Amino acid sequence: MEQILAKTKFADPASDKKPLIISGPCSAETEEQVLATALALAKTGKVDVLRAGIWKPRTRPGSFEGIGPKGLPWLQKAKELTGMPTTVEVATAKQVEDALHFGVDILWIGARTTVNPFSVQDVADALKGVKIPVLIKNPINPDLELWIGAVERIQKAGIEKVGLIHRGFSSYGNTEYRNAPMWHLAIELKRRHPELPMICDPSHISGRRDILQAVSQEAIDLDYDGLMLETHIDPDNAWSDAKQQITPEKFGELLSNITWRHERTDQKEFNTALEKLRNQINGIDDEIMLLLGNRMKIAEKIGQYKKENNITILQTNRWNEILDRGIRAGEKLGLTKDFVLKYFDAVHLESINRQNKVMND
Ligand code: PEP
Ligand code: MN
Repeated sequence: MEQILAKTKFADPASDKKPLIISGPCSAETEEQVLATALALAKTGKVDVLRAGIWKPRTRPGSFEGIGPKGLPWLQKAKELTGMPTTVEVATAKQVEDALHFGVDILWIGARTTVNPFSVQDVADALKGVKIPVLIKNPINPDLELWIGAVERIQKAGIEKVGLIHRGFSSYGNTEYRNAPMWHLAIELKRRHPELPMICDPSHISGRRDILQAVSQEAIDLDYDGLMLETHIDPDNAWSDAKQQITPEKFGELLSNITWRHERTDQKEFNTALEKLRNQINGIDDEIMLLLGNRMKIAEKIGQYKKENNITILQTNRWNEILDRGIRAGEKLGLTKDFVLKYFDAVHLESINRQNKVMND
C-alpha cells in the first residue's frame, strides 16, 4: 500500500504527482458484487484504492444499514485478486477493531460521524498505537472548526497520515446538488493546512450521475489531491445510493474525460504573462481597497449626522435603492446577481458597524 500511496499527491500534496483515485461500491452487498466490481475497476487500471461501506449510517432506520463484518473477508479477497488496498468507513471502536482484524488498509470517518466529537474520540482512542492512514470526511454541516477538530483528535491518537474528504454539506430545500459543495470552505481548509491531502467525493456532492463529470473536473481544477467515486456493477439496483453510482466502465470513461492540470509550470512565457496579469489585478485590488476605505469614511460622516438628528442607522428604502443600483450596474458589467448581493451585503454590514460605533460609542 505504501508504494501505491507514494506515487500520488496523497503522499505529498505539494508535489506534481497524480491524484489518488478511490473507487468502489457505496455498500458491500454480496461477495459476488464486491468481487465483480473490484475486478472491473482493476481492469480500468485507474484505481489506487478500493472502497466499500460495511456499516452504513442511514438517515432514517429501516433501510439497508450495511452488511456488517461479514463483508470484510470479501474485501480481503478483492485485495488478493486485484492488489488494490482497501478502505472502509468506521464510526465506533468496535468497527475499527473489526476492520483492522480483517486487514483493511485505510479507514475513513463519515460525514455523520465527524459532526460528533464523542464518536470521533471513540474512534481515535481505538486507533492509539495503530499505524494506518485515516481519511476524514467533512461534517454534514458547514463547520470548518468541527472538521479540523476531528483531524486533531485523530492526530493526537498518533495517526501520522491524515487526509480529508470533501463530500459537500447538507442544505435545506432543493438545490442542484445532494450536498452543496461550498468549495470555499474546502479551499480555506487547504489554505490553512496545505500539508493535509484533500480528496473530493463527487458522488455524495452530486447525488446523481449527470453532474459527476463536471464536479470531478472542478475538483481537479481546484488542485485537489484525489477523487473518491462510487461504482457498482449494477448501479440501478444498488442497495444504497443507487442514483449516484456508475458502472466501473463509465467510471473509466469519466476519468479519461478529465483534463488533468498542474498547479505550476516552468514555461517562461506563461509565467511572465501570468505575472503581468497578476500585477494588474494587484493594482486594481489596491484601488478597490482605497475606494472602500473612502466609502467607509463617508459612512461615518453620515453616522455623525444621524446621531445629531436621532435617525436610525438602517433605512430599508435606502438599502433597497443601493441593491437595485448595484444589481443593474452589475448586469451591464457581466457580474452575477449572486456576487453583487454578497458584495453589497459585506459592504453594507461594515458601514452599519462603523455607524454603530460613531453613534453609540
Ligand atoms: C459513503 O461514503 O458511502 C457515505 C456514507 O458517505 P458520507 O459520510 O459522505 O455521507
Ligand atoms: Mn454512499
